[in-house]
Amino acid sequence: MITEIFNKIYKIELPVPFPIKTTNVYFVDEPPKTLVDTGIKTEESFEALSKGLEEIGTSITSVERILITHCHIDHYGQAKKLSTLSGASIYIHPKEYGRIRSFIHSFGFLKLILLRNGTPEALANEIIHYFESGQKWGDPLEEAFFLEDGDAVQFQSMRWKTIHCPGHSPGLICFYWPEERILFTGDHLLKEITPNPTLNVPEYGPPFQYPSLKQYLASLEKIEKLDVSLLLPGHGEEVRNPKGLIKKIFGHHRERMDRILSSLSKGEKTPFEIAMNLFPGVPPFEVFLGISEAVGHLEILKEKGMVRLKEKEGKDYYFLET
Ligand SMILES: [Zn+2]
Ligand SMILES: [Zn+2]
Repeated sequence: MITEIFNKIYKIELPVPFPIKTTNVYFVDEPPKTLVDTGIKTEESFEALSKGLEEIGTSITSVERILITHCHIDHYGQAKKLSTLSGASIYIHPKEYGRIRSFIHSFGFLKLILLRNGTPEALANEIIHYFESGQKWGDPLEEAFFLEDGDAVQFQSMRWKTIHCPGHSPGLICFYWPEERILFTGDHLLKEITPNPTLNVPEYGPPFQYPSLKQYLASLEKIEKLDVSLLLPGHGEEVRNPKGLIKKIFGHHRERMDRILSSLSKGEKTPFEIAMNLFPGVPPFEVFLGISEAVGHLEILKEKGMVRLKEKEGKDYYFLET
């Protein structure tokens, strides 16, 4: 589906085989003709994008620039294919470029992290299998230009600003158009879903750290201070009350932290056990998201001196500081 969101800015929804169903890509019909994110690399996604661009009166081969918000496959998957067809240059934060290239080599670390956080081995293997099989939905990037915090994204008549918002992923970037107070958020802010501070699968070995939630909350504060009236997210509908949404997300995380503390008041637990308390009966990929959420909170609580951890038989157990 195509929506003209703003003069010369179109939202095209592309299908993804995940519960979220669609990814939004945005096409800017002004030189250099630009796509924000690309969707995954499937026939359906490619067809939907071609059709969408045709309806707007343009085509894939006319795309001159591709901006990528972050390293998740539903956002960059068909970037390389589109760039090969159109000659468009790809722009991404250097951290995300590195993560896309190293991801398939980091499943060993991912497994170590999952086991350490209390995931049963069979389930850890299922989660890794899910990620491995998802690699078919995207090509690693080759030539790309880097965008960092503060970098300008120039169009013929407008100038956007890159805003680095680590948290959902370490090198996620939003694009800010100050004159119109518009922000393209990738998955940093979504209307219906609280973005997950996804566990950072590291490029290097232990010690593993879990700063995602802490960074995410700091990035939220950064956006809270920005003069913005319209958010254009990577999934779902646009948001016309950014401050209200940000408040809701802060509240959601406070509530979740309380639930984690109350679950620990009944005794020590691994992040996996906490995730299962928070989200019982979810499929493997969501177990991963649940553990991401749990370790994010536990890391913050540990820094505040409210919880401690001890290792037992290769697993991390967290308990309340008394
Ligand atoms: Zn994402
Ligand atoms: Zn996404």
